[in-house]
Amino acid sequence: MSAIVKCPACGARNRVDESTTKKPLCGKCQAPLMLQQTSVPIHLTDATFDNFIRKSHKPVLVDFWASWCAPCRLVAPVLESFAQSQHSIIVAKLDTEQNPLIASKFQVFSIPTLILFENGQEVKRITGALPLQALEAQLKPWIRVN
Ligand SMILES: [Zn+2]
Repeated sequence: MSAIVKCPACGARNRVDESTTKKPLCGKCQAPLMLQQTSVPIHLTDATFDNFIRKSHKPVLVDFWASWCAPCRLVAPVLESFAQSQHSIIVAKLDTEQNPLIASKFQVFSIPTLILFENGQEVKRITGALPLQALEAQLKPWIRVN
């Protein structure tokens, strides 16, 4: 069985073998593809981050987090709700323990830190956990209502 999966970053259509156990990547930009088009956050790594941020047609909100960080666990469901509540901003996560290069490149010293990237550039940074309404208010300029 194969399915056509639209790349969340560049919009390219990829044919993906659904029975594969490997994580599929976009043939055009190497961004991770999601077999089910769910709105859950995309997991980025040191290896995939740059390409994904640069090629994305939409702004990307990246949650810099770590497994030992209690406030990160508070912000995780907020981000999941945010990802589902709108389609203007792609929500992604980067585990700073597994991926220290990107975290240090963007000088993320405290977590959780949320950084919004537009056309590969940082345009907004939010430090600390916050409720959904506050997150939406901070990101309002980038949320398009259809
Ligand atoms: Zn792509």
